[in-house]
Amino acid sequence: MKKRKISSKLGVTRRDFFRNAGAGLMAAELAGVSPGNAQKPAILSPTVYFTPEGGLTQISPNLYVLRDTCNVYVLKDGDRAVLIDFGSGHVLNLLGQIGVSKVEAILHTHHHRDQCQGDARAVSEGIHIIVPQHERYLFDDVENFWRNRGIFEMYYVKNDFFSLTHNVPVAGVLRDYDTYRWGPYELLIHPSPGHTLGSVCLIGSVDGKKVAFTGDLIHSPGKVVNLYELQYQYGSADGVDCAIFSLARIREQGAGLICPSHGEPFTQVDAGISGLIDKLKGWYTAYGGGFLTVESKPFAVSPHLIASVDTTSSFYALISDSGKALFVDYGSASWNIFSVYKNAASVHDRMGFVEHTVPQLKSQFGMKSIDVIMPSHMHDDHLNGFPHLVRHYGAKVWCYENMVDVLQNPRGYNLGCILGEPIKVDQAFQNGEIFKWEEFEFQVFHSPGHTEYQMAMFATIDGARVAFTGDAFFPSGSSDSLLRHNLIFRNWVENDSHVKSIKTILEHEPNIVAPGHGKPFLSDKADLENLKQRLEGQQKYFFDAIADPDCNFGLNPSWVRIYPYQLQAKPGTTAKLELRVRNYRSHPMRLEAAIILPSGWKATREVLELTIPTGKDATAPFSVSIPADWDRAKPRVALAVDVRVDGKYLGQIVEGVVDVEFGR
Ligand SMILES: [Zn+2]
Ligand SMILES: [Zn+2]
Ligand SMILES: [Zn+2]
Repeated sequence: MKKRKISSKLGVTRRDFFRNAGAGLMAAELAGVSPGNAQKPAILSPTVYFTPEGGLTQISPNLYVLRDTCNVYVLKDGDRAVLIDFGSGHVLNLLGQIGVSKVEAILHTHHHRDQCQGDARAVSEGIHIIVPQHERYLFDDVENFWRNRGIFEMYYVKNDFFSLTHNVPVAGVLRDYDTYRWGPYELLIHPSPGHTLGSVCLIGSVDGKKVAFTGDLIHSPGKVVNLYELQYQYGSADGVDCAIFSLARIREQGAGLICPSHGEPFTQVDAGISGLIDKLKGWYTAYGGGFLTVESKPFAVSPHLIASVDTTSSFYALISDSGKALFVDYGSASWNIFSVYKNAASVHDRMGFVEHTVPQLKSQFGMKSIDVIMPSHMHDDHLNGFPHLVRHYGAKVWCYENMVDVLQNPRGYNLGCILGEPIKVDQAFQNGEIFKWEEFEFQVFHSPGHTEYQMAMFATIDGARVAFTGDAFFPSGSSDSLLRHNLIFRNWVENDSHVKSIKTILEHEPNIVAPGHGKPFLSDKADLENLKQRLEGQQKYFFDAIADPDCNFGLNPSWVRIYPYQLQAKPGTTAKLELRVRNYRSHPMRLEAAIILPSGWKATREVLELTIPTGKDATAPFSVSIPADWDRAKPRVALAVDVRVDGKYLGQIVEGVVDVEFGR
């Protein structure tokens, strides 16, 4: 695993900080700094009514703990220190006793209020706050969280209520699987969903001993702080599954000392963690939690083809004789991990990811490296792990040509299941193209239906003709052996999409079908023919039920659309957009479009006119200017387009959003 430094954003001065941190205004206010007067920071003196009882306790020469509202760990390097979690902030009154005159950063293991309730004081003293990447919004944008957290009709029962009440500016993030380097210390940032979903453990050598700062993943040997943090969905044991998975991963790290956020530091690491895993497994089983993520196991379909089907989506590792692997898909560790991360992701963040299966592929199936990764289609449940494999294993991304822009510019589209992180593509293939990788030969085809952005890929592996079909269809899971398909209009569906896809697969007569969900199965021509007939029936329904005889207008909400759908632009700048149109008519279409903007914004062309040839696409570029003094309280706004087609006034049937970047 390659280690990378965390972002250089840590080098910002406090002045830049207040100037840039749009979300940090409240803390600026608390610090007595008005946004217009950011050059003269005043010292904050927040009222704190209580102080913890004890003082600093030395654990080893350079490691101390204060038992505050949480354990605050002090990691020393001469007269400077970083703190792990902060509690009430009382620790700042005591550091002089151990010769520390400067605190350079606070690293938070998670967002709970007892970990960070004193952060405004730290900010006022110029200390950088560094937080887990996926919980950043619960620090510097937490006021927005409070505006939007529903309490009525609550079925998402996760205790995210234990969040700060005021925004705190954030100087940097702890990125999962990166390394935080400071002074003589190198701390691995290990994601550890459970107690909270974005929690991280920080693991590294301190005074010659491998130490893990584990937040609230474990309280003490065999104990958790509470169980209520381990339930997110109504009546589920979802967080227990996450905690067991995280505990197993942290146990593998081989730390000699666990420093928890509550409870005492302890050295009986293996027994302490194993004892807790056993108890939680008992609870999970008794409670009917279902499949445990930690028990997911890949298996050999044939000597070179390894399948993993307990993961969110099935994924396949083709391992060549050289030990190099080509993956088709690589999503989340399990359906549970995927769904809990998906539900917790903020508007601007991608969902979380924990590594899975790679160690088993290495130890049990002879995989030496991950050379190439290919998505069957562009959905997040199939490629959530791609950025991780690129970053930490140097994997190259290959894909079918129409996925390139969706992967590289995910903000461009309003489609179902887009991963909120761009993925750079190294090589793309056209419809029908044949290519070689190691000793194998592949052929790739466009396979629309489930989504327009999907391939079917065929290869002969260990003597069998294998079809990688993504989510084109799934095994039924019942004894009638009927294949299932699904239909999601948001994924760009046209009336003949599904039929095209099944015809391609039938034509290539695979022996084995490797689907995107469920186990690989022996291909049965009669089953495929049966599905084809049902898909042709579906096509008839489209024509029967939709008023417009060119029924694709009633299937595809994006036939006229703004690109990019989610624009990012700074105040005082002009940004380029496009109106894109697909013409499903059997005659050229004339479209007039008026751009509807927030007040004070300007479009270079207020009315666009374009003619779209029969059955083709057309594009009209335009630009919008954002006022330099745009209101920071409106960081995300919507645009609309008022449309007239062939003289018929359709109204504001197109929209997009703009994220105004204030330098967060
Ligand atoms: Zn906590
Ligand atoms: Zn899927
Ligand atoms: Zn899908």
